[in-house]
Amino acid sequence: MYKNKKITKPIYIGDIQIGGISPVSVQSMTKTPTSDVNQTVNQILNLSDNGCDIVRCAVPDEKSALALKDIVQNSPIPVVADIHFHYELALKAIESGVNGLRLNPGNIRDKSKITDIVQNANKKNIPIRIGVNFGSLPPVGSIGKTKGISRHKMGVEELPKIANINSNQYSQVEHMIRTALWEINILESLKFYNIKISMKAFDIETTVEAYRGISKIVPYPIHLGITESGTKDSGSIRSAVGIGMLLYEGIGDTIRVSLSDDPVEEVKAGNNILKALNLKQTGVTLVSCPGCARADVDIIKLANQVDKITQKSKSKLKIAVMGCEVNGPGEAKDADLGIAAGVGKAVIFKKGKKEKIVNSDTMLDEFEKEIRKMENKIT
Ligand code: SF4
Repeated sequence: MYKNKKITKPIYIGDIQIGGISPVSVQSMTKTPTSDVNQTVNQILNLSDNGCDIVRCAVPDEKSALALKDIVQNSPIPVVADIHFHYELALKAIESGVNGLRLNPGNIRDKSKITDIVQNANKKNIPIRIGVNFGSLPPVGSIGKTKGISRHKMGVEELPKIANINSNQYSQVEHMIRTALWEINILESLKFYNIKISMKAFDIETTVEAYRGISKIVPYPIHLGITESGTKDSGSIRSAVGIGMLLYEGIGDTIRVSLSDDPVEEVKAGNNILKALNLKQTGVTLVSCPGCARADVDIIKLANQVDKITQKSKSKLKIAVMGCEVNGPGEAKDADLGIAAGVGKAVIFKKGKKEKIVNSDTMLDEFEKEIRKMENKIT
């Protein structure tokens, strides 16, 4: 945790604490039909195996809300139900035993229905995340109004971005923050404070400023994400930049990287962001050289093979994969364990000191044996 970390009000999603002084958790969302219990549970098991702390499932219909019961019972990690407009689905999801809801009370226009959801969430002690998304903000001038609003008359795009505003001018970011405060106020007016907030946009500057703004005003834990961030390559980088900036400033208690890809890739990207910032407590940190004309091995292949065999490790080992013996051990001196390839052989080293020499055709197996030995010593 950074010294400047903003300590937020702790909440619990199942047994995972979010906020307070808890470590930043990684979330993802299933992409299977929630009504298909088998497919969804299998995806959750895979996500959990890859280091996902909390999973969210979309609930588009009653069948999905009911399926959540079996999903929750078979999930090794807490399950959050993602609801949009239908209050009945929220109630059914709570009945199914979910550990949290993602729901914007402003979308459920009838106050008595919101009260009903809040009372039931309170009984089960489950939090509600308010998710403010740039793409679904109320039209300009309509925050707080719930009837007769046309989403076609948005006007939000025409508001100035934060970089272009003159002092006190109403901006896109301010519209996001005011929307969040309105949604929060709906829950607080019902004496419900088990709240988590997200403020997502595609544009990094807008997202970062919206999170900075809301985090100054409210005590609730913050769920970070960049919405619709893209494919594995572009989206991981976009998310790392936006989420990374905020985490480094001490803002953010849980993260989700959204990618147009297998959700396991979202979890891997999320964990890598945390590891890069030294915020991840478990999992191998892989150091690998980029390779150059001095490389005595296909370094891309070797680094990826080592990445694969260490991906699910819960140890905190730092492992180095280097392409040559000349610079390898020196460049990765502080790694717990490393391999530096040479012509027809490779050197395995510990903390920069030579441990043994192995043949290149068995180097991966030998290296894996050393990794497992070290993991067993630690765990
Ligand atoms: S460790 Fe060797 S192969 Fe890898 S980048 Fe450095 S000099 Fe090149």
